[in-house]
Amino acid sequence: MNINTEQIADTLTDAIAGLAFEIGRRVRAEVEERAMWVPSSKMWEREVERIARKKANGVLVDYFLGQFKPVSYVIPDDRSSITCTRCGSTSYNLSNVQHRYCGQCKRFHGDHA
Ligand SMILES: [Zn+2]
Repeated sequence: MNINTEQIADTLTDAIAGLAFEIGRRVRAEVEERAMWVPSSKMWEREVERIARKKANGVLVDYFLGQFKPVSYVIPDDRSSITCTRCGSTSYNLSNVQHRYCGQCKRFHGDHA
């Protein structure tokens, strides 16, 4: 049996990047909700770290329960952009959106995502 280790590594990298991206997305959503807080105070930093830990826990629980599937790219409903979860860059080039291509990573996203 010939195992394609490069393909396995690629799939793992996408899964981890997808999880990290979702954690970041959930943290940002809650931090933005609390934007009336004074930024860059010690209390603020501790609170952001607490939120990050709580969101990471939530994403991982959802993942292991099969309620969240990591993706290697995100295209919004209006199909105006593509965000790569591996490097975090967003492209508004419609050709990149159409071909699910990341110019930063110089790679096409697979159909599994
Ligand atoms: Zn990328």
